[in-house]
Amino acid sequence: PSVVRFELYRLFLGVFVGALLGGMFGNALFGSLLAVLSLFLYHLYYAAALLKWMEAPKKNELPDGYGIWRTINHASWERWKQTRRRKKQLRGIVAEFRASTAALPDAAVVLDAQLRISWFNQAARELLALKSKRDSGLRIAHLLRHPEFNAYLHRAQDDKFDPGIEMPAPNNAEHVLWIRVIGYGRGQKLLLARDVTQLKLLEQSRRDFVANASHELRTPLTVIRGYLDMMSDDAEQSSESSLGGWQQPLGEMRRQAGRMQKIIVDLLKLANLEARNGGGHDELVDMAALIGACMDEAQILSNEQHDLQSEIAADLNVLGNQSELHGVIANLLSNALRYTPVGGSVTVRWKASSGGAVLQVCDTGIGISATDLPRLTERFYRADAARSRETGGTGLGLAIVKHALERHDAVLRVHSKLGKGSQFSCEFPAYRVKA
Ligand code: ADP
Repeated sequence: PSVVRFELYRLFLGVFVGALLGGMFGNALFGSLLAVLSLFLYHLYYAAALLKWMEAPKKNELPDGYGIWRTINHASWERWKQTRRRKKQLRGIVAEFRASTAALPDAAVVLDAQLRISWFNQAARELLALKSKRDSGLRIAHLLRHPEFNAYLHRAQDDKFDPGIEMPAPNNAEHVLWIRVIGYGRGQKLLLARDVTQLKLLEQSRRDFVANASHELRTPLTVIRGYLDMMSDDAEQSSESSLGGWQQPLGEMRRQAGRMQKIIVDLLKLANLEARNGGGHDELVDMAALIGACMDEAQILSNEQHDLQSEIAADLNVLGNQSELHGVIANLLSNALRYTPVGGSVTVRWKASSGGAVLQVCDTGIGISATDLPRLTERFYRADAARSRETGGTGLGLAIVKHALERHDAVLRVHSKLGKGSQFSCEFPAYRVKA
């Protein structure tokens, strides 16, 4: 660059003039040495000034300088001003980010790859009872001690569809927190927590309402049904009497009352399943025997109109609840029979699988369209409403199946093609299966 060239000229000129002046006094070498020395001192002075300024740019002054120093000092000054501006900007962004996350009603905690806390917001202080000085750098598992949370932390956290878990709040056991951990960056994780106590209470009151309403309706309906039975018996015997003409309407009333009773029974079953009461889930259930019993019931239901087949692994038991599992098998079998026209076949399989064990109920019936498939387990959702009512369906069977399976940590998968038949698979995890 030109400034460097200029400094070189200056050096040469200095040495030349120094030698000339020194020559006039009889020592050219001493003269040029003196010139070099003074140039060196000049550079040292400016270098020292620059160093001093760099140590405390706000306090000290930066001299303007000449030649190369003017360029260097100017560039340093510009650079410093730029950094200062950028710092200010970043500080603004961080402050804004802090303010916005502080305003967040959900708790947010940033965890490093070792699951240690690196940062958290205001809501985390309140919901998770974290304290800044004490808790930064500590492992989250030490602070939120809950077996389910611990297990959740060690499950895959990179699953974008993970629904998260619910657990009691650490500082107030009456509050329920919903917690999710999301992986990002290089092994870092973001933990989100939300207070869902109100939502839980609302859900609970909805469940209670359904359970109570079903319970309240049961007794009056039993009484009505009893009288209807009596009256239709009378009507049958005395075709001449005043009741004679009522035979048909009475029959219809009995049928409808029967349907209502079935619905109420199913609603109560569902409410019980949801309330998580009604027996433990750790009895050893002999699946081969249970399926055998259900097959016998199915034979009666089918009335020899279907080809019933089974392939059952003999010594594969499930750790669970016998009556709930009976409900699952009976519902799936009853569906297979009811939605398979006369002459079709129904096959039940029970076998070990890679993940544990699987129960399959396959039929060659009417099948289910792809649009109905995802909604089958909703309450009262019917793909074929007419056939469901005609065959005595309540629309609650698969909802019961789903809930009962959930309580066994099992999942229901349905494959079906319209007109070709359906396959309902219940996949049990390995720890529920005992050979
Ligand atoms: P429902 O008492 O009406 O059978 P479910 O909850 O048991 O109620 O089933 C929901 C709906 O799923 C049924 O109405 C029916 O349309 C459909 N479905 C269930 N099982 C089968 C099957 N094996 N084949 C075809 N459709 C089925």
